[in-house]
Amino acid sequence: MQYDVVIGLEVHAELKTNTKCFCACKNQAGSEPNTNCCPVCVGLPGALPILNKFAVEQTIRAGLALGFDINRTAIFERKNYFYPDLAKAYQISQLVKPICVHGSLRVGDKVIPIHRIHLEEDAGKLVHGADGNTLIDYNRGGVPLIELVTEALQEPHIESAEEAIAFLEKLRQIYIYAGVSDCLIEKGQMRADVNVSLKPKGSSTYGTKVEMKNIMGFKSVYRAIKYEIERQRDILDDGGVIEQETRKWDDDKGENFTLRTKENSQDYRYFPDPDLLAVEISDAEVERIKKSMPILPDELKARYMNEFGLSEYDADVLLQFKHVSDFFNECVAEYNQPKNVCNWLTTEIMARIKTETGAGPILISKQNLLWLIKNVDDKKINRLNAKEVLSKVWGTNLNSEAVAKQNNWIIDIDNGALDGIVKKVVDSNPNVVAQFKAEADPKILNYLVGQVMKEVRGKASAADVMAKIKELLG
Ligand code: ADP
Ligand code: MG
Ligand code: ZN
Repeated sequence: MQYDVVIGLEVHAELKTNTKCFCACKNQAGSEPNTNCCPVCVGLPGALPILNKFAVEQTIRAGLALGFDINRTAIFERKNYFYPDLAKAYQISQLVKPICVHGSLRVGDKVIPIHRIHLEEDAGKLVHGADGNTLIDYNRGGVPLIELVTEALQEPHIESAEEAIAFLEKLRQIYIYAGVSDCLIEKGQMRADVNVSLKPKGSSTYGTKVEMKNIMGFKSVYRAIKYEIERQRDILDDGGVIEQETRKWDDDKGENFTLRTKENSQDYRYFPDPDLLAVEISDAEVERIKKSMPILPDELKARYMNEFGLSEYDADVLLQFKHVSDFFNECVAEYNQPKNVCNWLTTEIMARIKTETGAGPILISKQNLLWLIKNVDDKKINRLNAKEVLSKVWGTNLNSEAVAKQNNWIIDIDNGALDGIVKKVVDSNPNVVAQFKAEADPKILNYLVGQVMKEVRGKASAADVMAKIKELLG
């Protein structure tokens, strides 16, 4: 049978703040275990939470970046459950009145509706040792976390693993540009729960969903969804029924297994946290945050394409990493040749910084790179030598101009002298000239260009030399 796939995502992202959500402990990944802790965030009895205003502001910022309505009153609730990484035995979260409601995100041609974003606290982390012991690090406990929930039971919704990944990548990009989260996947700063159901093609009745919680990494999300679609398809094709359950994705095995079924699903017994007042959010506050919003990827993309004439592909490559587009913006502000700057960034620079999980820092200063770009444009250094300079300057304190001078790469040969050398090379290669005249293939002339470049030791523009040879040969 043919099925429609329905996918709902619940995405957690750790907010970028100096301190935790309900205490003054540092919100800092990578510290020594259990050093960013206090009575509040390890849940000692009687310790009182104090809401971090900036965490609320960051949540509002995330919401505004996705077109959400901001509730003027928001409430914190206790979500009760026991787990060793949650010392209080409840998580402060939001159920009835979250901060953000009704947003959306464009993915390709679809605008996916989003139900809500709420603010909650992260739990600590269990560290399973090789010796079979488990240790607990509470540094992450109390770190502000936003949870976004998509609206799967409305049209349009996410319908494939590919679309789910496109959604997550776009969301990640927006959070990073808005400055609300660094979204470092490998540090667990962005994690997704996926809900999957199937229904007969065209049916208006939704199927029973299966949830897979806390999947790390987009590749795993992709595989988990693919697997779950096939699992449900097999069951339905055999005339079976899908149980509503939570399953655990095992990335090593490439399969999932039952964690808990509906019968033993948890009842969190939510109730308003009596230690926290309702959060009142004024119009003025929302306006202030709106005004402070940084420029977002869609707007930048439009500027790159419409104002700078970049292709969509180039714009997307630049926008893939915020520090790359920031660098690009700074370079163009100083040297208004967006296409040339873009070419250097999307090829030479990108090749040097791209890693498996993202991108490393740009290890050349704006001044040094611009010197190269300008001087190639002005034909003061040829492109190959300029790339050599880039290699030598990259990651060092060297200066582009000094390196070019040191290597005698600045083009200072005058036009008359260059004409003479071109003529000499053409005259001493009658066979090549004859072949060119017979076949009329300009590629044959590359040999002559090479000979001229050798004579001038690279201190001429290859394009100029080619033009001169063509002129000479008519
Ligand atoms: P729960 O209370 O089980 O967490 P929610 O109603 O909060 O369920 O929904 C969680 C996510 O699952 C949301 O993104 C929602 O849109 C999605 N969802 C709900 N029903 C379905 C379904 N039948 N198929 C796929 N996703 C669904
Ligand atoms: Mg859920
Ligand atoms: Zn604390």
